[in-house]
Amino acid sequence: MTGRNPISALAHLRHEFGEHGGVNMSIEASSTFTVMEPGTMPEMFQGLKGHDAGCYLYGRHFNPTVYNLGRQLAALEGTEAAYCTASGMGAIASTLFALCKAGDHIVASRAVYGGTYALMHDFLPEKAGITTTFVDITDLDAVRNAMTDNTRLVYAESVSNPTLRVADIPQLAGIAHDAGAQLVVDNTFTPLILSPVALGADVVVHSMTKFISGMSDVIAGAVCGSNDFIESLMDLHTGSFMLLGPTMDPNVASTLSLRIPHLSTRMAAHGERALALAERLDEAGVNVCYPGLAHHPDHLLFDELRCPDHGYGGVLTIDMGDLESANRLMSLLQNKYRFGFMAVSLGYFDTLMSCSGSSTSSELTDEDKNEAGISPGLVRMSIGYTGTLEQRWQELRDALEEVGTSVGQTRYSEEPGARSGKTTTLRNSSNL
Ligand code: PLP
Repeated sequence: MTGRNPISALAHLRHEFGEHGGVNMSIEASSTFTVMEPGTMPEMFQGLKGHDAGCYLYGRHFNPTVYNLGRQLAALEGTEAAYCTASGMGAIASTLFALCKAGDHIVASRAVYGGTYALMHDFLPEKAGITTTFVDITDLDAVRNAMTDNTRLVYAESVSNPTLRVADIPQLAGIAHDAGAQLVVDNTFTPLILSPVALGADVVVHSMTKFISGMSDVIAGAVCGSNDFIESLMDLHTGSFMLLGPTMDPNVASTLSLRIPHLSTRMAAHGERALALAERLDEAGVNVCYPGLAHHPDHLLFDELRCPDHGYGGVLTIDMGDLESANRLMSLLQNKYRFGFMAVSLGYFDTLMSCSGSSTSSELTDEDKNEAGISPGLVRMSIGYTGTLEQRWQELRDALEEVGTSVGQTRYSEEPGARSGKTTTLRNSSNL
């Protein structure tokens, strides 16, 4: 079994032309919209006329350019609808507030982005009376046992940040649905690779800041789900988009809309480079984690769930054992070898590196970090596709050697297209 390929749905999406026939859609830059008859305005406020009838009220409520990007996201995810937000956190918070009220309960993976964790662990219980039990999302019995009568949703990242475990979406959906709850999946790490709703999830959220943008120049998010769910977020009285105001700028929507058509090429490039480096690191005995490696605990599951055309994702981790070695490695890679940048975030065309335990996962309690396997020396690398593979491998190898991690004298053929064309492997670091 292989997963859904969203490419044809994206290709067949109606193309929005510009106002003057431009091949790119125009940007609706207005924050407010006229009505031709005074009676239309109260009808819109009563919910009798809406965007489906071409009646637009106010930019925080609805913007046609943002909506068109939402249509692309819905095609990407295979959902009835989607709408976009000013950030990934805006998308996640709006979704949680839409699905939960005071007294409700969430079962969430403990290996989630630190901001998501802090929202559930610190903010929601205190400010909204919504509690979360964090579990190892790969332990399906633990998920089942954590469900209560008040559990409204199970929350997981498709591939977890930064531990790179793959969520068994069909099984998790079954557990959630049996308990009358919904499954929400953050698909930030695997756009195009996984289609969570086709696998049983109810709602997909994205930080489009990452791979979908690909250029680390905008902050953006999206929520994808049923028509009714997305419309409910815009409700004038109860909608979390309308009332919390995580509104996407239409200029950002236009920018991102132009990047969706080449997301497939970019995801494949990230995945190809990440797999090649992971295989070489693994072969050299470095403590590397990447779900494309055959011995990764979720490799077979990932193969079953993913669309095979876009690789295994652009993120790998190297466990350097301790924070000092991790910091030395990142510093050398940035400042001496120009391999990449010490920066949070991911999905950039160049490589981004951070030590998760002391940065994007620092919000986790020490216990949860421990349980999730986020050690102080864990370096997360979002692998870019600039430069040549041989050049990047050489830089990585030299930096690792300099930190004292033996990489062996591993040489590879430079034949074009050779993904892992090893020619000789001499495990004798003194030769370097
Ligand atoms: N989800 C994941 C998996 C992330 O890595 C991030 C990172 O920031 C977010 C959500 C939050 O997205 P944003 O920074 O766009 O608000």
